Amino acid sequence: MRILIADDQPLDRTVLKMTLEKWGYEVVEAEDGTEAMKILNGESPPGLAILDWMMPGLTGPEICLELRYQERQRYTYIMLLSAKDDKEDLVRGMAAGADDYVSKPVDLHELQVRLRAGKRILELQEELIATREELRVQATRDFLTGISNRASIMEKFDAEAHRSTREGTSLAVLMCDIDHFKHINDTHGHPVGDAVLKDIAQRMKSTVRPYDSVGRFGGEEFLVLCPGTDAAGGAALAERLRTVVASTPVVTGRARVQVSVSIGVAARIFENTDELSQLISEADTALYAAKRNGRNCIEIAPASTPV
Ligand code: GH3
Ligand code: MG
Ligand code: MG
Repeated sequence: MRILIADDQPLDRTVLKMTLEKWGYEVVEAEDGTEAMKILNGESPPGLAILDWMMPGLTGPEICLELRYQERQRYTYIMLLSAKDDKEDLVRGMAAGADDYVSKPVDLHELQVRLRAGKRILELQEELIATREELRVQATRDFLTGISNRASIMEKFDAEAHRSTREGTSLAVLMCDIDHFKHINDTHGHPVGDAVLKDIAQRMKSTVRPYDSVGRFGGEEFLVLCPGTDAAGGAALAERLRTVVASTPVVTGRARVQVSVSIGVAARIFENTDELSQLISEADTALYAAKRNGRNCIEIAPASTPV
């Protein structure tokens, strides 16, 4: 673990540094408050800071106040180093946002114990961040395919539709549905059906441009969003997706499954935000037309921006 020592007394700093290094910590030094603040605001700052109370530039409590005010992504555990015995001052230091304090001259045994407590708090905080990230991923990803789930792709749709209304650009949406998927399940079993869904989701994801989005809209239905794309561009992508699915069978275990998709395309430049939800139903209607036209084909919604 990396620790920042900020102290304007070179001797105090050196003694502390050597001790911490002996205990296995990596040390970063600052010789005044300004330099300490710069390091803490820099890239990948140390997680724990031991700040002298009185320093030129900024004092320890001033740095605490500033850091706590910033609402940082990662918590910095702050220990104030104080020659003051005045309890009232210590209360002020803690009120400024310090987590702990050590009186000077430093009792090394006490410091070691307190550093361990700080380290434990930081480790708990890392775990908390990791859990929060995991929950965020779980809430936005489809469990089976790993692509965006319905709530997440609809949230993206909302954002992109509003952006295209503001910027006056066309947004294309593609509603893709696997053909006769029920038959695939019935013939090969549900696990093979699942493997097909995963494979098709990956094919789609790797076919679209980096700024397009693919989400699982329902059972075997996928929604693709293409910002800045008109009906011609949407139709071209739909045709590419159709081909990418139909050209090679999905191979899973002993099964080789020939799969195809039907795709409905809708695109438009929105006049106002009341029209946003219509775009998806237009793509859906076009999808049903593609099904009626024999499947493994694409259909463009009539109201789409001209090709
Ligand atoms: P169409 O060509 O008209 O789209 O016919 P279809 O059989 O694909 O459509 P239908 O809506 O009749 O059937 C969809 C099937 O998808 C039914 C459902 O059991 C299956 N399904 C939905 N979600 C999953 C899933 O997560 N895994 C598997 N294996 N099957 C699923
Ligand atoms: Mg289907
Ligand atoms: Mg369906």
